Amino acid sequence: MQQTQCNRCGRAVPGYDIIHYGSMDGGYREICSKCFNTEAAASGGLDKFEHAELAPVQLADCDGETHLFHFRARLIEKIRRALSTKHVREDSYGLRIADHQVVRGWIDWDEFGRMLISFEGWQFKLEIRDRSEEL
Ligand SMILES: [Zn+2]
Repeated sequence: MQQTQCNRCGRAVPGYDIIHYGSMDGGYREICSKCFNTEAAASGGLDKFEHAELAPVQLADCDGETHLFHFRARLIEKIRRALSTKHVREDSYGLRIADHQVVRGWIDWDEFGRMLISFEGWQFKLEIRDRSEEL
């Protein structure tokens, strides 16, 4: 498998692990997913970030042919999705559920109860998800 050298850490990594990262103003670099996630975590203020090395998995299809799957954890995409929607807003009454009326993430139960007061008589749907799932 063709190897490419990361422009940040200098490691030689498989081509699928390289990300063309940067901007039109600052230029682009080819960096490995570990460096990409580290930079994304730093720019997002995550100071305790640990990059997850995901081992490839080999699975057989219905014909018995095996396929090798490589997984990448792209933190920046998850951060962008999480930051793209504001689920609560604060006004003179305290925290309130935003206009799209969907709340995701970690919320103190007392605060959540206070936010629901303005929806008395409404129906609501509650989903409980594992921490590892993206909301
Ligand atoms: Zn690197």
